[in-house]
Amino acid sequence: MLNPEDDFGAMLTFDLSRPGRIGTTLPPLDVPEAPLPSNELLRDDLTLPELSQMDVVRYFTQLSQRNFSIDTGFYPLGSCSMKYNPRVNEVAARLPGLADVHPMQPQETSQGALALMHSLQGLLAEITGMDDVSLAPDAGAHGELAGILIASAYHNSNGGSRRRVLVPDSAHGTNPATAAMAGFEVESIPSNADGNLDLDALTAALDANGGSVAALMLTLPSTLGLFEPRIEQIAELLHNHGALLYGDGANMNALLGRVKPGDLGFDVFHLNLHKTFSTPHGGGGPGAGPIAVKAHLAPFLPTPHVEKEDSGCYTLATPERSIGRLGLFHGNFGVLVRAYAYIFSLGADGLRGISEAAVLNANYLLVRLRDAYRLPYDRSCMHEVVLSGSRQKAKGVKTLDIAKRLIDYGFHPPTIYFPLTVDEAMMIEPTESETKETLDAFCDAMLAIAKEAEETPDLVREAPTRAPLRRLDEATAARKPVLRWKLGLE
Ligand SMILES: *Cc1c(COP(=O)(O)O)cnc(C)c1O
Repeated sequence: MLNPEDDFGAMLTFDLSRPGRIGTTLPPLDVPEAPLPSNELLRDDLTLPELSQMDVVRYFTQLSQRNFSIDTGFYPLGSCSMKYNPRVNEVAARLPGLADVHPMQPQETSQGALALMHSLQGLLAEITGMDDVSLAPDAGAHGELAGILIASAYHNSNGGSRRRVLVPDSAHGTNPATAAMAGFEVESIPSNADGNLDLDALTAALDANGGSVAALMLTLPSTLGLFEPRIEQIAELLHNHGALLYGDGANMNALLGRVKPGDLGFDVFHLNLHKTFSTPHGGGGPGAGPIAVKAHLAPFLPTPHVEKEDSGCYTLATPERSIGRLGLFHGNFGVLVRAYAYIFSLGADGLRGISEAAVLNANYLLVRLRDAYRLPYDRSCMHEVVLSGSRQKAKGVKTLDIAKRLIDYGFHPPTIYFPLTVDEAMMIEPTESETKETLDAFCDAMLAIAKEAEETPDLVREAPTRAPLRRLDEATAARKPVLRWKLGLE
């Protein structure tokens, strides 16, 4: 029997198994019986759990109730925009005409879906201030890969082979990974004391051999939650050397309806629809990372690109010098529908309201927490605030301990130890969808933990104490990992 009070999280269906128990009743055989294959072809070592149907239902239902999600609590995971996913988006995505459309059915029977994609391409171009968009990439990192391959194809078409991509030291790990995967040498550009890009270092990198730089990949706002005030100057510096400015727009929450990256000088820019445009994305999916470009890069967009013919029909087209196909079919359609519904249900004013509330909420946390935790860059932030637990660490309480203790208070921890440039970093993104009461409750918990770190540090170091499972023994997990269930595991 499954007892929720037990250490149930560590239990597997195998532990509940009883020989001979089955969960289903098969109907009488109504086809001729066929002989089994010969014995040497049959496996008898296939150990599967033997359970009643009720055992299975209870096991998985109880396991699902251990999930933490945006629907059950505050989830300030920085850089991830864990915001409310309005149910109207789900209704739209489940409409049979959209949910059941098959990617291989003839285009003349899927004109509605293609019209939606065409419209979304235009909306995203308008929101970003870019000239054209492809919806093909299935994630942020996939959009980055598309963008860097576009940059590469563009330079190749101009006869120049450029082998370096510059990446600020505060960048999301996917940026250098993308550039390396596309075959470029990655060169890190440091940040200065204000958290901005060090322009002297950028100038030096360009002066050293600007002709070999394909692009700078810049996140805006940066992963420090800061707006880069000299962005236009940065764009000009790159363009003077024939290099492109790539924008990582995974987090558009602070800019929506206010700032168009195209106006700032970006040549290519990706969006994370599953973050900014609201699709549930816990556990690694699903996602969509549309890539937006200026006109000079449009011929290189990945396929498919939805175009409207003179006849008024929509068609899946391949741009003239396309980098090609990035995956099967036409992108992550369900995510595209959700983004479309989200944009239309909010309208232009609603989108502007998002950035206003997202930035206000993050600054509210900054002001309430700045005396208890170190604020590495003393300036107002954008959609997220990065604090440091270095003061607490000096007293023997690490940021990891603080994060674990937040679980005891019922909150999902923020992103920790990222960006790498901030010691004991805590990257907190409240998003626009939270009330002041929720933000206050979170701040109260953070302040209480700061006090505990002073007075009862062991309490914080032992956290979580109220979760179904205690802290993982990371050393044992790394040295003696148990990766699969074995009969009679001691
Ligand atoms: C989330 C994120 C990415 C990667 O997006 P995925 O959809 O997870 O691939 C890239 N850059 C930044 C700044 C991000 O926050």
